[in-house]
Amino acid sequence: MFSSMKIEFSALPEGIETLEFHPAPNDLHLETDTCTFAGPVAVRLSVNKTLDQLVVEGLARTHATATCVRCLDEFPVSLDESFRVIARVVPDDEAGDDTGDENFFLLRQSEPVWDLTEIVHDFLLLALPDNPLCREECAGLCAGCGRNLNREPCVCAGKPASGPLAQLSVLLQPSDRRGNGNP
Ligand SMILES: [Zn+2]
Ligand SMILES: [Zn+2]
Repeated sequence: MFSSMKIEFSALPEGIETLEFHPAPNDLHLETDTCTFAGPVAVRLSVNKTLDQLVVEGLARTHATATCVRCLDEFPVSLDESFRVIARVVPDDEAGDDTGDENFFLLRQSEPVWDLTEIVHDFLLLALPDNPLCREECAGLCAGCGRNLNREPCVCAGKPASGPLAQLSVLLQPSDRRGNGNP
């Protein structure tokens, strides 16, 4: 089963190795308020090891279901993120320092193990939409009657609106009902 996405520097031969991992979204702490994940994340790492350095070209893929922030409908989202990160093995007292570069890491010489779990988590989370929309022009829910305006018309017309949002939605209704043929 999944333990984390660790690369043991000394266990790798020099040259390029491909490693595959299939962490569950829970292992990566990917769930957000607006996205749920259906299956595992497929992570492929192409690791190029040289004398004291690892260059990793990564690809992380998964599918999620997002909830539209306007109409609350759910819709599928595909994530397909590639990234490139580098780690160098350095004397212990130099390792762990913040390198100031989010794609560059320093590993301890005495125990050069690189855990990429957090890195993959960060890349995938960045790719998730903050405010998912089922489509750019989603009409959302009417604040008055609650109808999904993508599918059915508002039935508020003629009734007194209640609440500040309801009044706003009346103001925002299409103006083409006001008159016919008037310039
Ligand atoms: Zn929507
Ligand atoms: Zn309405």
